Amino acid sequence: MDFRDLKRQYEYIKEPINKVIAEVISSAHFISGEHVRELEKVLAEYTGCKHCITCANGTDAISIALMASGIGERGGGSKKDAVFVPDFTFFSSGECPATVGATPIFVDVCSDTYNIDPKSLMRVIENVIAEGKFKPRAVVAVDLFGQPFQYETIRSICDKYGLLLLEDAAQGFGGYITLTDGTVKKACSLGSIATTSFFPAKPLGCYGDGGAIFTDNDEIAMLCRSIAVHGKDMSNPSDSNAKYNNVRLGMNSRLDTLQAGVLLAKFPVFRDQELENVNRIANLYSKLLCDVKELKIPTLKEGIYSSWAQYTVQLSKECDRVSVQKKLKEQSVPTNIYYIKPMHKQGAFEDTRSAVADCPVTEELCRRVLCLPIHPYLTDDEVLIVCNALKNAVQ
Ligand SMILES: *Cc1c(COP(=O)(O)O)cnc(C)c1O
Repeated sequence: MDFRDLKRQYEYIKEPINKVIAEVISSAHFISGEHVRELEKVLAEYTGCKHCITCANGTDAISIALMASGIGERGGGSKKDAVFVPDFTFFSSGECPATVGATPIFVDVCSDTYNIDPKSLMRVIENVIAEGKFKPRAVVAVDLFGQPFQYETIRSICDKYGLLLLEDAAQGFGGYITLTDGTVKKACSLGSIATTSFFPAKPLGCYGDGGAIFTDNDEIAMLCRSIAVHGKDMSNPSDSNAKYNNVRLGMNSRLDTLQAGVLLAKFPVFRDQELENVNRIANLYSKLLCDVKELKIPTLKEGIYSSWAQYTVQLSKECDRVSVQKKLKEQSVPTNIYYIKPMHKQGAFEDTRSAVADCPVTEELCRRVLCLPIHPYLTDDEVLIVCNALKNAVQ
C-alpha cells in the first residue's frame, strides 16, 4: 500500500497525460505558451478568482504574493513588518515571510480543525501592537490538511486590524466553504490573495514542482506576473522585448509548459471524480474509527468541504506513537507525521523573535498526530486493512 498512490492515478489517466506530454515535446515550447495560459484560465474560472498566475512552486507563490503586496523589506517602514502564521503548518508558510524580510509571528491553532485559532490570533495581534516593535501587516491563513480555515472570523479580524489576508491553499485546492448567507466560496478565493502548490502529493499535483497565485486585484496580479519573471516591464504586454526591461527586482519562477499540460489533463478527473472519491474514503475512515477511544478523528466545521490532503488522527496520551507506527509498518501500512515540530521551534527561527511563541495546542498536536494513507484511488478494502491494523496497534 502506498501513502499516496500516484502510480494508480497514472494508470487511470495515462492516455490524456501521454498525449499532452507528446504534444508539448513536439511543439518544442517548454516555457509558458498556450498550455500555461489555458491552465490559468481554467483554474481562475474554477476557483472564482479574476486572476490566476502560475509559478514554479507553492513556496515561490507565497513569496511572490507577499512581495507584490509590499510586505517585507520593500515595505520600507522604520519597523519590521509582522506576518501572523499558524504554528502548526509546513515550513514555507513561515519561511516566505522571513525570506522577504518580514518577521513571522506564530499563532496557535484549534485542536479540532488544525487551523489558525481566531482567539489566539486576536491575542497575538494585540500583544504585537502593545509591544510596538513590529508593524502588523498580514495573516497567512493555511487550509491545513485540505480543510479551509475559518474564513468569516479570520476575515473580520483582518479587516479590524487592517491586515492583508493571504490564504495558503497549498493543501486546500478543491475544498470550499458555504457561508452563513449560503454563498459558496472555493479554496484559493478566501484571501485577498491566495497561493497553492502543485507538488505531486498535493490534492492537485503535477509531475514535478508547480504553484499558482490567485487574486481579484488587477494591480497585484500584474505585479505577481512581473515579479515571477525577473520584474519584467508589464506596461505593454504585446512588446516582446519587455522581458529585457526590468523595472523591479523579481525572481525566475515560471510553471513549465509540460507541467501545465499535465495539470490540464488531470484537472477534469480531479474535479469530477477524485474529490468525490477522496471524500468517500475520508468518510469511511471516520465511520470505522469514530468509536476507537484511543483516537480522535478529524472534525470538519459546519459548511466545510475538504480536499483531504491528509487524514490526520490524534492518538491519546497513553499511546506510544513510535510503536504504533512500527506496528502499522509491520502490517505494510505506511503512515506519516505532519508535523513533528512547531514552527517556532524550528532551528531557522532560533535567533529571532519568532522562536518565542505560546502555542500549547500545537505542541500537543506535534506529539499526538498521525496521518493515514489517503488518496482518491484507495479502495474500501484497503481502508479496512488500515483501520484494523490501527485498532490493533493502539489497543
Ligand atoms: C506544500 C506546501 C507549501 C509549499 O509548496 P511547494 O510547492 O512544495 O513549494 C506551502 N504551504 C503548505 C501548507 C504546504 O503544504
